[in-house]
Amino acid sequence: MAEKVAILGLGTMGSGMAANLLKAGFTLTVYNRTSAKAQPLVNAGARLASSPADAAKGASIVLAMLADDAASRNVWLGADGALAAADLGAILIESSTVSPAWIAELAAAAAQRGLQFLDAPVTGSRMQAESGQLSFLVGGNEAALAAVVPVLQAMSKEVLHLGPVGSGAKLKLINNFLCGVQIASLAEGLAWIERSGLDREQALEFLKSAAPGSPVFASLSARMVSQIYAVNFHLKLMAKDLLYAQNEAARCDLELTTAQAARKLFDDAVTKGFGEEDMASVIQPLRNK
Ligand code: NAP
Repeated sequence: MAEKVAILGLGTMGSGMAANLLKAGFTLTVYNRTSAKAQPLVNAGARLASSPADAAKGASIVLAMLADDAASRNVWLGADGALAAADLGAILIESSTVSPAWIAELAAAAAQRGLQFLDAPVTGSRMQAESGQLSFLVGGNEAALAAVVPVLQAMSKEVLHLGPVGSGAKLKLINNFLCGVQIASLAEGLAWIERSGLDREQALEFLKSAAPGSPVFASLSARMVSQIYAVNFHLKLMAKDLLYAQNEAARCDLELTTAQAARKLFDDAVTKGFGEEDMASVIQPLRNK
């Protein structure tokens, strides 16, 4: 494989994505703020970079998978940031779930250096990242996308081109707004079932295949029942996504009142210490009242 890829961010998602690039035979450099998390990838053949700049140097494709706007700003534009160090001709990809406003700023900084830039957030979670079954929602130039498709395909089942830069970030926030509101209502619905005297298993079995049933309902209700909160998706990241969704919708003169209500539950769970747990733990404060 000719492409030299750098992955910035080895959390739940970045680790699985990087492993699939190695499996596909790409030459891979990885960077993570907490470098110890890179060890399994280094054992599998990746080079560990000492900074985002070190990772970006010599790479033809640089992809970031970081927590939020602040993390992304830090890694691309901060001290030893990746953007200033990237080779001319490199294509930069931001796959973190970040705000379209930040994507616009980052794309402008890339353009100033004459670098091509795509926003390409993903749907799917830990399992899909590990099995290479993500969906990429891409915004940006078609030719730049065509050049990186083989790399994206090594991590995904689907690569969707949505339009100009920022399009991926917008659809991703709409996707997570719809998920976040459903998860918040599921937490309240399940807490209600548990207090109602109904048989919990029977009620959930019925609802799963009734009108409210969905993939999110099936997977999150199972985790809420088992109370095993091994992280597929950090709870604090859903609070972040709902906030970004509210801000972005406001730019379209739309108030997301349901996102506001859902975010109250996620923020409350963060305050009560569940931010680093799986988002299914959003039900715990409702149980513990
Ligand atoms: P995660 O496990 O929480 O990992 C976050 C990553 O960001 C880690 O590499 C972390 O480094 C890094 N980071 C955080 N703050 C930083 C800072 N200030 N400077 C530098 N690095 C920083 O998150 P994830 O689940 O992999 O998700 C990554 C992105 O994809 C997020 O935007 C998330 O919303 C989105 N996403 C997640 C899922 C999911 O199911 N998990 C699905 C789709 C999209 P350390 O290791 O040093 O903390």
